[in-house]
Amino acid sequence: MIIDFSQYSRIPSLPTVAVEVLRLFHDSNSSNEQLVSVIRKDPAMVMKLLKAANSAKYAVRGEITDLNRAVMIMGRSAAAPLVLSFSLAKQSMEVSAHQAHYKKFWTRSFVQATASEVIAAHFGSAAFRAECYTTSILSGLGKLAMLKAEPDKYLNCLARSASEGIPLPRVEQEVFGFNHSKLSSMLLQQMGLPDRCHVAIRGINDNQIMPAKGRDTDHPLLEVTRLANAIASLICDVTPGIALVQLEESLAAIKFPTQMTAQQIVESVRDHLEASAQLFDINPDQLPSASDLLEEALDQLSRLADMASESNPAQMIPVELLEENGRLKRRVADLLHVSRIDSLTGLCNRAYLLQELAERAALHRVRGLSLGIAVIDIDHFKKINDTFGHQAGDVALKAVAETLRDALRDTDIIGRYGGEEFVAILEDSNAAGLAVVGERLRSKVEKTVVTFEGRIIPLTVSVGLVEGAVTGPEQRFGELLFGAADAAMYRAKNSGRNCFVVDSILQDEDGARSLERSRSMPHPEPALR
Ligand code: GH3
Ligand code: MG
Ligand code: MG
Repeated sequence: MIIDFSQYSRIPSLPTVAVEVLRLFHDSNSSNEQLVSVIRKDPAMVMKLLKAANSAKYAVRGEITDLNRAVMIMGRSAAAPLVLSFSLAKQSMEVSAHQAHYKKFWTRSFVQATASEVIAAHFGSAAFRAECYTTSILSGLGKLAMLKAEPDKYLNCLARSASEGIPLPRVEQEVFGFNHSKLSSMLLQQMGLPDRCHVAIRGINDNQIMPAKGRDTDHPLLEVTRLANAIASLICDVTPGIALVQLEESLAAIKFPTQMTAQQIVESVRDHLEASAQLFDINPDQLPSASDLLEEALDQLSRLADMASESNPAQMIPVELLEENGRLKRRVADLLHVSRIDSLTGLCNRAYLLQELAERAALHRVRGLSLGIAVIDIDHFKKINDTFGHQAGDVALKAVAETLRDALRDTDIIGRYGGEEFVAILEDSNAAGLAVVGERLRSKVEKTVVTFEGRIIPLTVSVGLVEGAVTGPEQRFGELLFGAADAAMYRAKNSGRNCFVVDSILQDEDGARSLERSRSMPHPEPALR
């Protein structure tokens, strides 16, 4: 396909301030004064920069009110990318027919630039950090150009990517014959961005572009840009599963001075985003936690891997997965294993528990059996932390985890749902059986002797147990069961703690479900607190 790029070449025009800052930034002979004289032209920009210079990051005593001083304190290599971002942000916020999309593009660029800066910080120089930030903040420019030049065609790409779960660059390639990174790279080359920067942008979605051989690896701009793009994709795009694979691959390609896991790097990017988002009028509340992001990505990935292993129509499966099927599946399996375990107690974690609950519900429905669940919460755990310290709290958590696991059958599942709350999934249960389990869990924990620095930590739990024959969709049934067990656990708390409550979910002939409040077993002697 022969493509005429001229229709995109002057779209969108960057704000004048941005163009000038870009030029100064890459001109090693330019001075702070020149930068200041450009910024002065825009009073809103002056305010923003002063606000940034006065933020906790620069820890200056007394307020900075003078622009010259602000640039001096921040350093030109930190001030210039910020100014560039402010002017791009402003453009994205201006009212236009596709304002919502502009905002989204901008937010993603901001996330990617922040990620770039966080990653680059591991490689030293402030100038390299600034260059990484600039490269990333500009890398989405091609999207704006495509949307401006051919709105209908581009909106279709966005919609298809979202509905079919195919990465946007691949849809763009199919529809336009090129992807936005390539276009960004061309536009920026015309605007005079240094070669290494626009090549790195093109390399985001072009595997043919390799890190320059023999180049000193202290400045891995291409690798940083690719990793930052994968993180931004995980956080902002509709294809987090594929983003996670790209993240893992980019992470393997980059040589950090100290090794970083995907979770650590996403967490630190997220923390930085929270700290700086308000400068750009972005609401940090919208940012999910790193573990939630990774969980969702893994979830999507395992679904895709399942699809790839079945004989589904090929067009439904992203090419990224088909091309590298075997390798990806192994990676998914590794990632899934790591993601199943709670690192403190060694029990399975919440994500795995929920998945297992839905799967077991489906099996029990087929077999016509009742499924049971127990929610177990340590009593007055905050007091244990306060009295003995958090380290002792962790020791207690591990001990309770071990006791609970030993108290259950091998076929039951026990996991840490969160903080000091555990959940057990109990096979083939009835109310009488659950009462026996409830009492066993309660008494075994009460008898567990845990010492910390010579002192005994008294431990008890409150347990809510519920059983019911599985009807309806398994996911919904799982939620119903869990909600009811949680409520039973709270009733146990209100009955004085160190006790259990058992309920049953009943169903009448019309299929309506109700809760039978059955056995409640307050223990007469709650442990001394
Ligand atoms: P209740 O009997 O009503 O359950 O009281 P509680 O103090 O156990 O409940 P609350 O939910 O108020 O407090 C739970 C505490 O658990 C708060 C938090 O400090 C602590 N916690 C959560 N996760 C951990 C952890 O991983 N380690 C430690 N040491 N403490 C944790
Ligand atoms: Mg508690
Ligand atoms: Mg709790």
